[in-house]
Amino acid sequence: MGDQAGGHAALAELLSGNRRFVSGQPVHGHDVTAAAAVASGDQQPYAVVLGCIDSRVPLEAIFDQTFGSICVIRTGAHVLDRAVCGSIEYVVGQLGVRLVMVLGHERCGAVGSAVDALRSGRRPGGALGYVVDRITPAVREVGADDPDAHPLAVRRHVRRTVAALRADDLLAGPVAAGEVAVVGALYDLATGEVALLPEE
Ligand SMILES: [Zn+2]
Repeated sequence: MGDQAGGHAALAELLSGNRRFVSGQPVHGHDVTAAAAVASGDQQPYAVVLGCIDSRVPLEAIFDQTFGSICVIRTGAHVLDRAVCGSIEYVVGQLGVRLVMVLGHERCGAVGSAVDALRSGRRPGGALGYVVDRITPAVREVGADDPDAHPLAVRRHVRRTVAALRADDLLAGPVAAGEVAVVGALYDLATGEVALLPEE
């Protein structure tokens, strides 16, 4: 299996896991036990998923994954920082993972905060301000005053995050060579379904 095929196979497995979850027939969903954790032995993850902290979007569950199968990183609205990028570089460079998925979701509170901040002109303080600042460009691109600014910005922010990862110092080469795929997707809170965002 070539590197490109590895990325495709990884994506197929992630999406089929989501279908198992949606259909109510997970293979791993019931097996959240210490025994299953111990049985996983060494980790051989095949994908890394970067998602939001939203408590309704537990990534291992919605992809029906088990111990050792995927690496998960979660920040508010999957905002990137150096630690997130370095973690993904580790998973790709050291663990040989060929697929990076950025997963946004409908009704994202962090994106909502960025929309509110632009509309009101009041930026949150503290580190939350940093998170909002990282989402703000997506809101500006779709237009903060657009009635659909929130859902549009959710999608735009996924695309921006994907683009940033494809341009990452250590990921750009493998991505250009077709060895690593970075894809964007959306989680639908109403159905549990994950849908890939089409390339633009
Ligand atoms: Zn969110």
